[in-house]
Amino acid sequence: MPADTRRLVGKASERFKRRFWGPRFRCPVCHFELAFADADGRGLLVCPVCGAVIEIDAPYGHPVPVVHDVEIHRPQPKARIHPTATHLPIGLFPFAAAGALVLFLGSVATALRGGPPPGLASGARLFGDAVLVLLVLSVGASLVTAASGLWDWSVRYRRRPYRQIQLKIACSVVFVLVGAAAVALHASGAVFSGADGLMKLGSPAGIAATAAYLSALGVGMVALATLGHVGGNLVFGR
Ligand SMILES: [Zn+2]
Repeated sequence: MPADTRRLVGKASERFKRRFWGPRFRCPVCHFELAFADADGRGLLVCPVCGAVIEIDAPYGHPVPVVHDVEIHRPQPKARIHPTATHLPIGLFPFAAAGALVLFLGSVATALRGGPPPGLASGARLFGDAVLVLLVLSVGASLVTAASGLWDWSVRYRRRPYRQIQLKIACSVVFVLVGAAAVALHASGAVFSGADGLMKLGSPAGIAATAAYLSALGVGMVALATLGHVGGNLVFGR
């Protein structure tokens, strides 16, 4: 099963890269995947992982990367805040999403049974509050993470428009937006009933709010997984 999932995700990411990044090649030094579109007008680019200065040409349509030099004096931020800061949102948000899923299943079970399952009646409100705290912490911390990422991009990568970093910036914006939407929906009382702490599955408005809330959490998880994957590649190479 995990192999199937990996193949599906690999296929989707390959299609995405072909569509939005165009032709790609691997850095001859560290084998990091780069896009033709990462190069400047003269066909030159610096590998973000190893610092090789590469000239790419495509005679006969086949990419030929040539290493000219290595960027020795590349700025190295001493305090690497960004890779450290990523752990807060990446560590907390999945627990918030999993907690919301548990509450959703409990709410569905309650609606089907006509009453809360044993143990849920008293605990749902406290559980929901814990999910909200995790959401606020992870989305709030993601602002620090995104700001430190932009800082690293401008210092370490000199604002070069790597496709990988553009994807990270786009995913960060998506994550902050859907995260803020999830926090707002949760805190507003549109999703959760103040009486029993369960989701309002009895009314169309409540169902719509719940669907929006769960979708926001799902999209947040996909954005977060992409951010973590691409960020890991940039830190550790491949
Ligand atoms: Zn490289």
